[in-house]
Amino acid sequence: MKDKQYQVVIIGGGTAGITVASKLKRKKLNLKVAIIDPTEHHYYQPVWTLVGAGAFNMQDTIRPEKDYIPKGVDWIKEYAEDIDPENNLVTIKNGDKYSYDYLVVAPGIKIDLSLLDGLTETMDKNNVCSNYTNPEYTWEVLQKTKKGVALFTQAPTPIKCGGAPQKTAYLSADYFRKNGLAKDVKTVLALPGSVIFGVKEFADTLMQVVYRYGMILKFYHKLTKIDAVNKVAHFTLTATDESNCIITVNDDDNVIHEEIVGEAKVTIPYDMLHLAPPQTAPDLVSKSLLAHKEGVNKGWMKVNQFTMQSPDYFNVFGLGDSAALPTAKTGAAVRKQAPVIVENILRLMDSKDILPESKGYNGYSSCPLVTGYGKMLLAEFGYGNKRMSDSLLSTFVDTTKEQYSMWLLKKYGLPILYWNFMLRGKA
Ligand SMILES: Cc1cc2nc3c(=O)[nH]c(=O)nc-3n(C[C@H](O)[C@H](O)[C@H](O)COP(=O)(O)OP(=O)(O)OC[C@H]3O[C@@H](n4cnc5c(N)ncnc54)[C@H](O)[C@@H]3O)c2cc1C
Repeated sequence: MKDKQYQVVIIGGGTAGITVASKLKRKKLNLKVAIIDPTEHHYYQPVWTLVGAGAFNMQDTIRPEKDYIPKGVDWIKEYAEDIDPENNLVTIKNGDKYSYDYLVVAPGIKIDLSLLDGLTETMDKNNVCSNYTNPEYTWEVLQKTKKGVALFTQAPTPIKCGGAPQKTAYLSADYFRKNGLAKDVKTVLALPGSVIFGVKEFADTLMQVVYRYGMILKFYHKLTKIDAVNKVAHFTLTATDESNCIITVNDDDNVIHEEIVGEAKVTIPYDMLHLAPPQTAPDLVSKSLLAHKEGVNKGWMKVNQFTMQSPDYFNVFGLGDSAALPTAKTGAAVRKQAPVIVENILRLMDSKDILPESKGYNGYSSCPLVTGYGKMLLAEFGYGNKRMSDSLLSTFVDTTKEQYSMWLLKKYGLPILYWNFMLRGKA
């Protein structure tokens, strides 16, 4: 039975959901739009990296959700529990059903601690911290780490803002340096991949940063377990040929006492551990008819990577962290995805064809790589890790090099852009 009928229903009122709703209402004021999201708070997550380094106040990253639901949009304050694209229906937690002409799916990403052995018991405790879950605790742990190993790593699942774990490592290394602790604390960055960054121009600069701080860098380290009692992180080496043993920077004497355990298992004892926890598509998406059922994208929402349209349901679109797209999951990516969806929905309403793929989303994403207090490079790229750059910015600054101006952009400029322009549908 249909309780309510909307022209557009949006699941999720985070970065993506609010941006799409605002843009739709700006283009067509009388549209009947609903956002489904139970949250009281809207979080500006990108500056949690700075919160974790004591350079930004957590409270300033949180605002009431009600202040950002666009005027004239109905806010359904509940979890969406089921999507039935065959009948154009969304069921929410209390059982109510809402029907739609067009559906936009944007419930973000699910952090699932249970996917990593030993993590649930120790997350945000015992010096195990994460800017993804509690950046204030990261700052607390950082300040009390005076010696030993500060280990930075990530779960081997897709994660939002793939650069965030290494930004924290650089800021922490800078913190230890500034406070005269660099001799006593070894900063270790252990990554599952084979390169520090997928785009060469930025990777070159980041390797210089690693050397500058005397960090120990490990590749092919797939995190498998955290033993919080003994403060040891367990990894398997994903490339077991001889060469992977050579890919290590600044640790020829094994000063951090890494041990090879068995054929391809490695343990690293730590005093401070920062990690990106395991992340998956929300259950709502993965159990629905909209998800990939097989392959590397299993569970994530199936969309055409240019038009953002479901290949199976013409009136369903997906964007943001829950969409299966071969690019980095960031708010910056959402800013470029949202206008494509808005344009395509309005075209379909006017009985026109959607935008051709060539005029759709090009995979743009960006990662503000903070490399220390007052230093940042801005990595912008698209599908195929092709470097892209904002034409205005790149006229004035070389964004592949560390810049103070980019730090100012991150700390002051981007939050203003986010709250006042992007969420208002103006950017
Ligand atoms: C530490 C950290 C650093 C980051 N740094 C950057 C950066 O520097 N630059 C950058 O661009 N991005 C960065 N990001 C990533 C960025 O914040 C996300 O990519 C962006 O918020 C994704 O938008 P979204 O709308 O898909 O998800 P979100 O903004 O997370 O919103 C999802 C919304 O869906 C709601 N929801 C969930 N389930 C349901 C349900 N069943 N029913 C209804 N509603 C539901 C939630 O309540 C939430 O409001 C960072 C993230 C983190 C954690």
